[in-house]
Amino acid sequence: MSRAFNFCAGPATLPEPVLRQARDEMLDWRGTGMSVMEMSHRSDEFVAIAEEAEQDLRDLAGISDDYAVLFMQGGASSQFSTVPLNLLGDKTSADYINTGIWSKKAIAEARRYADVNVAASSENTGFTTVPDPARWATRPDAAYLHYTPNETIGGLEFGFVPETAGVPLVADMSSTLLSRPLDVSKFGLIYAGAQKNIGPSGLVVVIIRKDLLGKARKETPTMMNYQVIADNDSMYNTPATYSWYLAGLVFKWLKAQGGVQAMGDINARKARKLYEFIDNSEFYANPIDPSARSWMNVPFTLADDALNGAFLKGADARGLLNLKGHRSVGGMRASLYNAMPEAGVDALINYMAEFAKEQG
Ligand SMILES: *Cc1c(COP(=O)(O)O)cnc(C)c1O
Repeated sequence: MSRAFNFCAGPATLPEPVLRQARDEMLDWRGTGMSVMEMSHRSDEFVAIAEEAEQDLRDLAGISDDYAVLFMQGGASSQFSTVPLNLLGDKTSADYINTGIWSKKAIAEARRYADVNVAASSENTGFTTVPDPARWATRPDAAYLHYTPNETIGGLEFGFVPETAGVPLVADMSSTLLSRPLDVSKFGLIYAGAQKNIGPSGLVVVIIRKDLLGKARKETPTMMNYQVIADNDSMYNTPATYSWYLAGLVFKWLKAQGGVQAMGDINARKARKLYEFIDNSEFYANPIDPSARSWMNVPFTLADDALNGAFLKGADARGLLNLKGHRSVGGMRASLYNAMPEAGVDALINYMAEFAKEQG
């Protein structure tokens, strides 16, 4: 069985060379006679793996020493509560931008702790647009502003980084971190669940400006206290060692591809090809405002929903996997993360053209 093109939104396809290296190192990591999975997280070997992964991530994303990089657990969703618990400080309110399902989940969780001000929402367009920042009703006394730069389910992406006039900007970058260059210095905090562009699920990478550490509410669980995690180099308890190692292999692979600049060029090209094909077709459609289309997640519908089953069956038979859209939106969705080769997008477009033709 050869490798298929896996368009899953997450857990998502990983670079094949990374999986091969993990396989080769599985039983005996570099002559230690052990798998990475079996190593003490306090061992020199694992600490070296962990530090190298962090350094590679810092190099790739251009993260300065003003920021701590944390390798936490519980996925991106745990950050929905970790963020308010840590960042509210002596304030009570926080601003949120609502652009889809992941924003909504973050908002619902924050409401347990904060007076949440939804400063803007695109719910009225069915989340097919990004609200015009000139009209955001932000509050100057907000502890932070939270947004979701890429809505993985809706396929909606911000084409800009919001200006917040000093209010710390917090971003759920689960499905877009490392997909292109980014000016980290504009952010107070970035978090990203690993299973899209970084590695296995469960791991969540947090990049936090150091002046935002140390403000956790006193009832904050220790495991969710950024200061504690930072002080302990993300090893307050046993970290997700194997996931951390695998993320490190992905970072090395990204560096070998030319880093986020090169990746961004490839990703832009992949997305452009697919959207162009969809836009030029009478049979397929994408509902998102062209200025806010995601590079990473491309939802599309067929002219007739009754054909969805046949489309997916034919795709599976060609090794084009997991194209079914999220249960909440239906249709199809192709996720084009870093590890999806351009050849995968070409194969998808060829199949889509063939299928549309067959249907007349
Ligand atoms: C996948 C995803 C999440 C949820 O990640 P978990 O690791 O399952 O908690 C949250 N936000 C965004 C934008 C995502 O893409």
